[in-house]
Amino acid sequence: METDVLVVGAGPTGLTLGIDLARRGVDALVVERGERLFPGSRGKGLQPRTLELFDDLGVLDAIRAAGGSYPAAMIWRDGERVGERRMSDPAEASEGAPYAEPWMVPQWRTQEILLARLEELGGKVAFGRHLTGLTFRARGVRAEFATGEPVHARHLVAADGGRSTVRRALGIGMTGETVDPGPLLVADVRLTGLDRGHWHMFPPHGETGGFLSLCPLAGTEEFQMVAQFPAGTRADLSAEGIRELVAARSHLSPGDVTEVRWASEFRPRAALADRFREGPVFLAGDAAHIHSPAGGQGLNTSVQDAWNLGWKLGAVLRDGAPAALLDTYEEERRPVAADVLGLSTGVHRGEVRRGEATRQLGVGYRTSSLSRETRPDPGPVRAGDRAPDGTVGGVRLFDAFRGPHWTLLALGVPAPGVPVRVVRGPAHAAYGTGLFLVRPDGYVGWAGETAADGLAQYLALVGLA
Ligand SMILES: Cc1cc2nc3c(=O)[nH]c(=O)nc-3n(C[C@H](O)[C@H](O)[C@H](O)COP(=O)(O)OP(=O)(O)OC[C@H]3O[C@@H](n4cnc5c(N)ncnc54)[C@H](O)[C@@H]3O)c2cc1C
Repeated sequence: METDVLVVGAGPTGLTLGIDLARRGVDALVVERGERLFPGSRGKGLQPRTLELFDDLGVLDAIRAAGGSYPAAMIWRDGERVGERRMSDPAEASEGAPYAEPWMVPQWRTQEILLARLEELGGKVAFGRHLTGLTFRARGVRAEFATGEPVHARHLVAADGGRSTVRRALGIGMTGETVDPGPLLVADVRLTGLDRGHWHMFPPHGETGGFLSLCPLAGTEEFQMVAQFPAGTRADLSAEGIRELVAARSHLSPGDVTEVRWASEFRPRAALADRFREGPVFLAGDAAHIHSPAGGQGLNTSVQDAWNLGWKLGAVLRDGAPAALLDTYEEERRPVAADVLGLSTGVHRGEVRRGEATRQLGVGYRTSSLSRETRPDPGPVRAGDRAPDGTVGGVRLFDAFRGPHWTLLALGVPAPGVPVRVVRGPAHAAYGTGLFLVRPDGYVGWAGETAADGLAQYLALVGLA
């Protein structure tokens, strides 16, 4: 069997990439070792920048309908409510950033929505396909599976999670540290005795051994339970063990936990792959970087990797862009992942608050070799920056950007003839004046005063001329 792009893993990263490749008409296959999608709620916090990505992919309405906003935290001690606090600094929606707050959707539901969109676009996931090894060939990669035929692909994307088989097979190391010496238990449970209007926190005290948190999962009747254990101990993942743990660390009784739907144990680490690329193979998502769950960055950083890589693969494989374009994936995404590692470890240790940085709206690529700022005196938005929303000439910009294409904004200057969609208008408060060529992933690639500032060369670089 042959395909242009083999995506290994149908987690949020693989599904997002699958959608982006499908809408570009790139021949791609997503393979997943499980017989179905992952069942747990773990990455439940969708950051504003991810909501913008989901808007671009056409799944935002479904994501909105499936979730809810974050409730305030309620701190408990000895069966008493002792304080309430917000989980993150408040933010107001604005014209430029219409999605201001994180949105809660259990990860299993996000994945169902992404899979449905992939299938709507004609893509598919081959379940029960466990990649066991790979070898490089003259034109790409041959992937071997525990059962079934090998697959030949021009490119392979490892979206196979933190324990990535592909990363290990390539001998790419992960450099990092343990964030917390003890394990964390995470489970999806049903229970009685707590309101659904708060994220309930039971800080450690006395003999309890670690904190317990119970967060009502928006759009469901379940709570996500997270419990911390001392170094050198193990969590008991049985339903009975979980009931006893809840009773030991809160005022609830074992019988208040009426169902345990899913439970897992993990050790929070912060680590970054030494490389994001090896020849025709790319690492993306948790395969490339793992974070503490605190601050809700892992899934978000992962799907942003996919958004960065998807259009570049499409440009090279379908539009004849120079293959060197693919080098910019690691150049752009590895520094972002390194920053996020520090951020989520800081949130985990209580040194950094959830707020502006965790929303990921400030992530950009100003220093990337793909960002060409040619104006001597740039305004507020420069090449490499996230392209904000707004209204230009009666057109909402996020409506204009939505989809796999590039967009040229001509603001206060004449628009040249270009093979991309053009939006014209006067100088704009958020952007300033000039020509702004907006990449398919919503960042300004090139900015200039006139097309003579190198627009044609830039279009050739990205396969548009
Ligand atoms: C308790 C907890 C809370 C979290 N909270 C948040 C949060 O609020 N916000 C946030 O952004 N992130 C959060 N995260 C992190 C988030 O869950 C991960 O970052 C995210 O799942 C990464 O997506 P992925 O697609 O890269 O990897 P995964 O979701 O791990 O998906 C990898 C897929 O690859 C498959 N696979 C693995 N090996 C193979 C193979 N050899 N062959 C074929 N398929 C294979 C797996 O079965 C799996 O389906 C949390 C994590 C935990 C544990």
